[in-house]
Amino acid sequence: MNETEKSSQWHKTACILCSLNCGIEVQLDENEPRHIARIRGDKAHPISRGYTCEKPQRLDFYQNAADRLTSPLRRRPDGTFEPIDWETAIAEIADKLGLIRDEHGGESIFYYGGGGQANHLGGTYADSVLKALGSKFRSNALAQEKTGEFWVQGKMMGTGMHSDFEHCEVAIFIGKNPWQSHGFNRARVILRQIAKDPDRSLIVIDPRRSETAELADYHLAIIPGTDAWCLAALAGILVQENLIARDWLAEHATGLDQIEPLLASIPVAGYAEACGVPEDLLRAAARRIAQAKSVSMMEDLGMQMSIHSTLSSYLQRMIWLLTGNFGRPGTNYALVPFVALNLLNKGAGISRESGEKPEKRSPVAGARIISGLVPCNIIPDEILTDHPRRYRAMIVESANPVHSLADSQRMREALGSLDLLVVIDVAMTETARLASYVLPAPTQYEKYEASYFNIEFPQNGFHLRRPVFDSPPGTLPEPEIHARIVEALGELTDEDIAPLKAAAQQGRPVFAREFMNAMATNPVIAKFAPVVLYRTLGPTLPNGAASAAVLWAACHLFVQANPLSARRAGFTGDQFTAAESLFDAILDNPSGVIFAKDEYEDSWSRVRLPDNKINLAIPEMIAETQKLATEPLQRNPDYPFVLSAGERRSESANTIIRNPDWRKKSHAGLLHIHPQDAANLGLKADDSARLSTRRGSADVVIEITDTLQPGHLSLPNGLGLDYDAGDGVIMRVGVSLNELTASEDRDFLAGTPWHKHVPARLEPLK
Ligand code: SF4
Repeated sequence: MNETEKSSQWHKTACILCSLNCGIEVQLDENEPRHIARIRGDKAHPISRGYTCEKPQRLDFYQNAADRLTSPLRRRPDGTFEPIDWETAIAEIADKLGLIRDEHGGESIFYYGGGGQANHLGGTYADSVLKALGSKFRSNALAQEKTGEFWVQGKMMGTGMHSDFEHCEVAIFIGKNPWQSHGFNRARVILRQIAKDPDRSLIVIDPRRSETAELADYHLAIIPGTDAWCLAALAGILVQENLIARDWLAEHATGLDQIEPLLASIPVAGYAEACGVPEDLLRAAARRIAQAKSVSMMEDLGMQMSIHSTLSSYLQRMIWLLTGNFGRPGTNYALVPFVALNLLNKGAGISRESGEKPEKRSPVAGARIISGLVPCNIIPDEILTDHPRRYRAMIVESANPVHSLADSQRMREALGSLDLLVVIDVAMTETARLASYVLPAPTQYEKYEASYFNIEFPQNGFHLRRPVFDSPPGTLPEPEIHARIVEALGELTDEDIAPLKAAAQQGRPVFAREFMNAMATNPVIAKFAPVVLYRTLGPTLPNGAASAAVLWAACHLFVQANPLSARRAGFTGDQFTAAESLFDAILDNPSGVIFAKDEYEDSWSRVRLPDNKINLAIPEMIAETQKLATEPLQRNPDYPFVLSAGERRSESANTIIRNPDWRKKSHAGLLHIHPQDAANLGLKADDSARLSTRRGSADVVIEITDTLQPGHLSLPNGLGLDYDAGDGVIMRVGVSLNELTASEDRDFLAGTPWHKHVPARLEPLK
């Protein structure tokens, strides 16, 4: 296809700006064919069905950023970088990692990242590198957002879950504004449907009158940081007014005998006052929930990054479980993931088969490892020490911990003290600037990519995206980088994989037989399976789809674990035939495929606890609930405001777009403040002020809005990136939020940060 033909075509791909990854089609600029000229929703995408929000219209700012990396870089002694060739880079990195492993053990090499909102495919192959090094500890952004929730749902259900807002009678959101942060497919369409329907209700628990709260029938405008009191009061009302689904609980749950007296003792009037919501409104909301035929509830970062976050995850589940809202249409359901990330239910330390298991801990700080992830806020503690088990080297892939994790100052200090830091990324990020070596990868539109955030029900979809552009010279896709490192470490040789290479040439049935045999008999093949698949099956896949090789194994594992789900989705025949036809469907459908169809009651078989029963009683959470009565919310008079650091706005997204020009409105990201607070400080719209926290300060421009409560401030996420527009001058537009946050401000159990509850002070700048 020539350039003219290529630019007139619509190319199917996905938006990469939030976890939904809506299917889109892009047309290239006919004069500048490496630019995206037009974008529209892909109506053939089986999940998003043509839906998009406004954000992907500006994706060309990502594709054509000026700070792209196009050569491996090595840090010179003076701190500057020099370009080097790939052979040198891989050889030196493997050599240095090997030396650290040999001297200090593989567990001294820490892995962070592995993919963002939509690029999980490449990181799958990192597993082989980590096995080659004997690396044991890892983390990613989920460990500053979701691990408290994962821990709770592991203890209560032993499975991941999501909610059916499309069909629910009552939708409840806590600390979530789906109008901007989405979180479920076609969010704005569904929110409008609920808001318009007099028989359905929308309940929003949020200090801020967000776009979603504007649509709500019940807006419980809590005082920032009081989510737990509000949720405890709602659960207390359900028990005290005898609104719980007693028969359903007797059949499906254990632990009610411990929970009921606890909730019966909740002083509802006192907790209503503590959270700032009128008691009548709380009671009306609780009764509406109890009366509904179906309730779906979702929490998000507004709650998960505030104080009591793990406790609030527990209490919010109590509300829909006490009212019997699980495993039916319009309620909450157990996920059927395509790739078992091991994230959604691992780490809670309980299983149907073996009961309670010891929890894993990080080697230095002894922090709980949930879902296999070290808490992000703990990472500097694991490095900045002379402890013999400290992390001494780090591999960072598709992630930017210096900017996106709490306490940038401390993170910079920690990463700067490592013996070796290897960063794999598309652009020169704040983390890459500290690296010993930087390895450039193609953008998400220049390679095969996929997201493993597949959370739909009863139909679930998976989308393997094809490259829209050729990858530029000097970059390598992540699977190739990982394969080369494993080979340079001497862990996998041509001789090891030669028989499987030959088998792959004879077709997938022969390959499958030989691969299964090798997995059972050859420890090297089993140990490095992702890279083995990439090197053997990969080259035989059509249209250069070698990176999809690992999905072949994923198809077999999925069909083996979920034969009925696959059969209902049309993948029939024996297990091998069904898995192979699923893999073919993934390769052949550029808009994605439905890989699972389920029944709501299937959720019960996925509750991986004894007798498939939900567990209501978690001792740690019962103790925390009791403390609410005696430990009121603390205020620091030196920092009278509460800053929400990281609001999702129309002009903000994840930090993958580094060029600040992508935000047409609000280039620098304004600080929102209530009119009364602005007046008290003598501030007018567009005035500048100094925002200070215990950890740092930043100059901000203010926007006055009554959507916030007095005493509450808010800044958007995704700003404050250090961007070189190509002239060697680094500019920072907007506030880099984690210059203001402190790593010790975190949840007592999961270690998740309190970004939405940062004590702050504001002073006018004259
Ligand atoms: S930002 Fe999210 S909701 Fe909006 S188009 Fe992209 S993936 Fe879809």
